[in-house]
Amino acid sequence: MSAFTPTLFVVSGPSGAGKGTLVAQVRAQRPDLGLTVSATTRQPREGEVDGVNYHFMTRERFDELVRQGAFLEWAHVFDNCYGTLVTEVEKNLAAGHSLILEIDVQGALQVKEKFPEAVLIFIKPPSPEVLRERLVGRGTDAPESVALRLATAERELALADRYDAVIVNDDLTEAVQELLRTLAEHERK
Ligand code: 5GP
Repeated sequence: MSAFTPTLFVVSGPSGAGKGTLVAQVRAQRPDLGLTVSATTRQPREGEVDGVNYHFMTRERFDELVRQGAFLEWAHVFDNCYGTLVTEVEKNLAAGHSLILEIDVQGALQVKEKFPEAVLIFIKPPSPEVLRERLVGRGTDAPESVALRLATAERELALADRYDAVIVNDDLTEAVQELLRTLAEHERK
């Protein structure tokens, strides 16, 4: 394996761009990548486990952590608060593991400000039409929720040029290879 510097990668992109699946496939091929568990005020979905999927907490506890400066970044996303704990990032980098934070655009830009060496990767859908089809097709969101996600997507897409790399998720297999290449490129000394 070639020498590399542990790197903090941030992946974001609109809901429906397929970033969850993409990152999961990349992780399967890069088991060395560190994992962080974000904090959130949203309710656990069925099957989600506290401390595994998220650290689920009340708004009061979340605000207390904000006051203590425990978050590297945090943001309101679709009516809930989400944040990355500094301790989770530090323990991975100190152990020599690169890591991917899968967070929203507002959070990504905060990370870049505090951590200019972080590498920001934006996952784009091939077109707004495909995004709409994917959001409607997955059937998990009510029509108002689809509309909110599309409006948010438009704002997020406008910020793609602030990212270090943009990957269009048209063909999943190709996008996985491109993300793997992007990670390797930035990790090289
Ligand atoms: P979900 O509720 O579906 O698990 O996540 C909703 C959105 O929250 C995702 O698009 C994800 O990018 C974002 N998110 C998850 N964890 C964090 C975090 O720690 N910080 C920020 N800023 N966004 C997050």
